[in-house]
Amino acid sequence: MLGEIKGLNEECGIFGVFGHQDAAQLTYYGLHALQHRGQEGAGIVTSDGEHMKVAKGHGLISEVFPQDRLNELGGHSSIGHVRYATAGDGSYENIQPLMFRSQTGGLALAHNGNLVNAQALKSQLEAQGSIMQTTSDTEVVAHLIKRAGHLPMDEAICQALSMIKGAYAFLMMTENKIYVANDPRGLRPISIGYLGDAWCISSETCAFDVIGATYEREVMPGELLIIDKNGIQSQRFSAPIQRTLCSMEYVYFSRPDSNLDGKNVHASRKRMGKTLAAEAPIEADVVTGVPDSSISAAIGYAEASGIPYELGLIKNRYVGRTFIQPSQELREQGVKMKLSAVRGIVEGKRVVMVDDSIVRGTTSRRIVQLLKEAGATEVHVRIASPPIQNPCYYGIDTSTSGELIASNNTVEEIEEQIGADSLAYLTVDGLNDAIYQGEESLNHGGCAACFTGNYPTEIYPNTIPPYEKA
Ligand code: SF4
Repeated sequence: MLGEIKGLNEECGIFGVFGHQDAAQLTYYGLHALQHRGQEGAGIVTSDGEHMKVAKGHGLISEVFPQDRLNELGGHSSIGHVRYATAGDGSYENIQPLMFRSQTGGLALAHNGNLVNAQALKSQLEAQGSIMQTTSDTEVVAHLIKRAGHLPMDEAICQALSMIKGAYAFLMMTENKIYVANDPRGLRPISIGYLGDAWCISSETCAFDVIGATYEREVMPGELLIIDKNGIQSQRFSAPIQRTLCSMEYVYFSRPDSNLDGKNVHASRKRMGKTLAAEAPIEADVVTGVPDSSISAAIGYAEASGIPYELGLIKNRYVGRTFIQPSQELREQGVKMKLSAVRGIVEGKRVVMVDDSIVRGTTSRRIVQLLKEAGATEVHVRIASPPIQNPCYYGIDTSTSGELIASNNTVEEIEEQIGADSLAYLTVDGLNDAIYQGEESLNHGGCAACFTGNYPTEIYPNTIPPYEKA
C-alpha cells in the first residue's frame, strides 16, 4: 500500500485477547498483522486479573516491543492498538490504549474511528470540571464512563456509548474483563474469534489467521460484548439500524486476506476491477496494478477485458519509513523510491494502469510518468472506486477537501493533470454492486460519503476531520 505517500491513511487497528497465558505475545502478533492500519505508534495493556500494565511508544510494533519488553507485560488478558498519527496529534499521551487508574480499579481503552460530537462533549465535560490529559477523542469516553461510576461497569459503558456519535470500534479492559463495542452503524470493522478457550478480538480477520485463531463473527452494530472468566455476554446499547460499513475498507484499507461481513476483500476488489472493465473498456496490450492494494482489481479488470495482466510495476519493499515525509516534494521522491516500472513489460505497450483511488493526484501523475519513462506508448488510468470528493469524518484521512483533486477538478482535468491518455473511475453503483452483489439485507449499502457526500450520521457544526485538528 502506498498510503503514506498517497495521502490516504487509516487511523488505527485494535486487537485483544482474553484468557490466554501468552496474551501479550498474541496481541503483538495480532497488531503486527494490522500494522498497515497505522505505523506511527503502538501500545499494549495487559492484566493478570489483579494488576494492569501498560507499555507503548512511537514507531512500528516491532520497534516499540522488543522481546524483553513484551515479556515484562505478562498477564492473561491484553488489548493493543496501532495508530496512524495526524499532524500535531502524534504526542506520546495520545498513543493508545489510554490507561486510567482510580481507587475503584483500572480502565484501558483502545479505539478505531472518530467521534463527530467529541468537541461538544469535551467542552461540556471541561465545564463540569474534567481535566483532559490528551487531545484524543477516546479520553472523552473514559470521562463519560467515570461519571457514571455509580452504575455497574457494563451499564456505565452503555450510558457513555449512548452519548457519543460517529464511528467507533472500542476495546476496553479492566482487571478482569474485556468490553467490545461497535457503533450503531458499524462503520468500522471489528470481529471476534477464539483460540482454544481464549477469546480474541480484531479490527480485521487476517490477524486471527496469523495467530491460528478461528473467526467466530462480527461484532454487530450497537452491540456491547462483555468477556470474562465466565464466557461472553452480549448486550445492545442501541437499536439495530442499517449497517454502513466503510466502503474504503473494501477498496483500500483492509488486507486482501481479510473478510468483511463474510466477504473476502481480494474477491471484492476483483469484482470492482471486473465492473470497471465493463463500465470503462479500452483497447490496450497489458493491464497492470499499482502494488499492493490495486493488484486484485487489476486482475479483475484483466480477466473481464481479456487483456493480459502483467507485473508492470514493482514495489521496493525495503524503503524505510524515514524516507516518507509529509511534503509534496518528498512524497514524489517517495513514489520513486517505492515503485519501479518494469521496462521489459511495458516498453512499446499500451498499458491499462489500475489503481484503487486518487487522492491528491501526485502519486498517479508520478506513476504515469514512470510507465512512460519505461517506454509505455499509452497509459490508460482506471480507478477501482469513484472520485473522492468529500472529507471523511469517521477516522480515515482522505485529506482536506482543498487537497482532494476530484473535489476541485473534472475527470478530464484530472486526466490532463496526471498525464494519462485516458482516465475513468468506477461508478458508485458499480462499487456497491461489486461489494454487495445485489444482496438485500440489513448489511446492504455501506458508507460511501467520501464519494457521494451522503454522510450516514449527523455532522455537528464543529466537527472537524481528525487530520485537520490543530
Ligand atoms: S466517508 Fe469514506 S472513508 Fe469515511 S467512513 Fe465513509 S466510506 Fe469510509
